Amino acid sequence: MVVGDFAIELDTVVIGAGPGGYVAAIRAAEMGQKVAVIERKYVGGVCLNVGCIPSKALITAGHRYLEAMHSEVFGVNTGEVSLDFEKTQNWKQTQVVDKLTNGVRFLLKKHKVELIEGEAFFVDEHTLRVIHENGAQTYSFNNAILATGSRPIEIPGFKFEKNVVDSTGALNFTQVPERFVVIGGGVIGSELGMAYARLGSKVTILEGTDRILGPFDKDMGDLVVKELEKLNVDIVTNARAKEAINNDDEVTVVYEVDGKEKQIVADKVLVAVGRKPNTDELGLDILEIDIDERGLVKVDEQCRTNIENIYAIGDIIPGPALAHKASYEGKIAAEAISGKPVAIDYKALPAVAYTDPEIATTGISATEAKNDDSLIVTKFSLTANGRALSLNETEGFVRLICRKEDRIIVGAQVAGPGASDLISELTLAIECSLDAEDLALTIHPHPSLSEAIMDCAEAATGLPIHM
Ligand code: FAD
Ligand code: NAD
Repeated sequence: MVVGDFAIELDTVVIGAGPGGYVAAIRAAEMGQKVAVIERKYVGGVCLNVGCIPSKALITAGHRYLEAMHSEVFGVNTGEVSLDFEKTQNWKQTQVVDKLTNGVRFLLKKHKVELIEGEAFFVDEHTLRVIHENGAQTYSFNNAILATGSRPIEIPGFKFEKNVVDSTGALNFTQVPERFVVIGGGVIGSELGMAYARLGSKVTILEGTDRILGPFDKDMGDLVVKELEKLNVDIVTNARAKEAINNDDEVTVVYEVDGKEKQIVADKVLVAVGRKPNTDELGLDILEIDIDERGLVKVDEQCRTNIENIYAIGDIIPGPALAHKASYEGKIAAEAISGKPVAIDYKALPAVAYTDPEIATTGISATEAKNDDSLIVTKFSLTANGRALSLNETEGFVRLICRKEDRIIVGAQVAGPGASDLISELTLAIECSLDAEDLALTIHPHPSLSEAIMDCAEAATGLPIHM
C-alpha cells in the first residue's frame, strides 16, 4: 500500500520477521506500542521458511522411510517400500511451512502489528525507507529493533549454482541426489547429511577440523558419527575443500587431506560452513552502529546498541545462531523498550542437533567442566531405561553437571530419543537453580525417557537406584 511519500509514525519498528523479529513485534504490541514489522522475503524468517522447520520435516521423512523398510526387529516385515519425494516436498511445504508462516501472519494481524512487505534501509536514527514492489515509503519511529538474521557463507571455489547449493537449495531438491557431498560437518551438514543418507543418498561429509559437531561434547558427536557410519556415510575430517568443478550433470569436488589432493564426484554439493549476519545492506554505517569484525552488532544486556533507541537481536548479535535465542532476545528488547526492567541471562541456553541420536546441551558443557574441581559430572546411560529399551533406542545418556558444594545444577546434556524435549526440564532446573535432589525427588512417569533424568539426579546425590 503506497500512501504517499510522507513519513508514517510508529512507536517501534522491527526489521525482519524471523523468530526474533515477529516475536519482538508481538510482545511490543502486547505492551501497548504501535508496531510495524518490515519483511523483505520470508514472513517467519529463515527458521520457518528455509531453516529449522523444513529441515526437521525432511529429517522426519527420512526416519519414516527407513523405519518402513527396516522394522524387522519388531517382527514387522514389509514388502517393497518406495519414496515419492515430490510428495515429501509437497507435504513439507504445504502442511508444515505454509501452515506455520500463515500462522505468523495471523498472529501479527491479531496483535495489530502492521506487516510491511519490503526492504528497509536507514535514513537516520528515527527514519527508515522501505522499498517494496509498488514503490517506496518513509517511516519515522521512536525505537527500532534490528532482526535481519543471517545468510550462508560462500567459500572460494564453491560458487552457489544448480548443483552446488546452500542449505536452502538442499532443502528444496526435487530429487534425492544419488551422490551427495556436504562441505562442513556442523549442525546443518550433520542434520541434512543424515537426512539425505536416510532418504537414500550416498553421503560424504568433508569437515575442516578433526571432528564433526565441534561445539557439542565429543562423546555426543561420537554417537552421531557411529550412526552416520551405519548409514554408510563417509566422514572425512581435516579436509580442506578447494574447488567444485561443474559439468552439467555432476560436480567434481577437489579437496586436500594430509597435504594430498583428492577428488570426489557428486550429483549435488551442499556448502554448510557457517552463516554471516545481514548487517551490511541496511545502512547501519550511516547510523555509526558499533559492529565487530564479523559484522555482528554489539549490544548491552537489554539488546540495545550504542544508539539509544536502536536494539538488535538474533543471528546479527554475538552468540550461537539459534531461533529460540532470537525469540528470547526479541522479548527482552521489546520489554526493555516498553520500560520493563529486564536483562538477558544466557546461563541456560539449550542447543540441539536433530541428528540420530538427537544431542542436546544446556548450561555448562562437559568439556567446560572437565578441568573445574568445583563441579561434579554424573552420567546415566539409556541402556538402563525401560522406555528406551521398549523403543529399541538405547544409544544415549543423560548427564548432569552440578556444583560440588551444594549439587546445584549448572549444566546438562542429553543424547538419545527425545533429547530435544528432555533438555527443557534440565534447562528449567538450571534457570530455577534447582539441585540434584530436587530432580531426584520429582515424581517422573513410568516408563518414560524422563526417568533417566531422575536416575541421573539420584546418582548425583549419591543414592542411585538403577545404577
Ligand atoms: P532470520 O530468521 O534470518 O530472519 C531475518 C529476517 O529478516 C528474514 O526473513 C529476512 O528476509 C529479513 N530481512 C533481512 N534484511 C532485511 C531488510 N533490510 N528489510 C526487511 N527484511 C529484512 N535454529 C534453531 O534454533 N533450531 C534449529 O533446528 C535450526 N535449524 C536450522 C536449519 C537450517 C537449515 C538453518 C539455515 C538454520 C537453522 N537454525 C536453527 C537457525 C535459525 O534459523 C536462526 O538462528 C534463526 O532463524 C534466526 O532468527 P532471526 O530472527 O535472527 O533471523
Ligand atoms: P556451523 O558453524 O554449525 O558448522 C560449520 C562447520 O563447517 C564447522 O564444523 C566448520 O569446522 C566447518 N567448516 C568451515 N569451513 C570449512 C571448509 N572450508 N571446509 C570444510 N569444513 C569447513 O555452521 P552451519 O552448519 O552452516 O550452521 C549455521 C548455524 O545455523 C549454526 O551455527 C547453528 O547455530 C544454526 N543451526 C542450528 C540448528 C539447530 O539448532 N538444530 C540446525 C541447523 C543450523
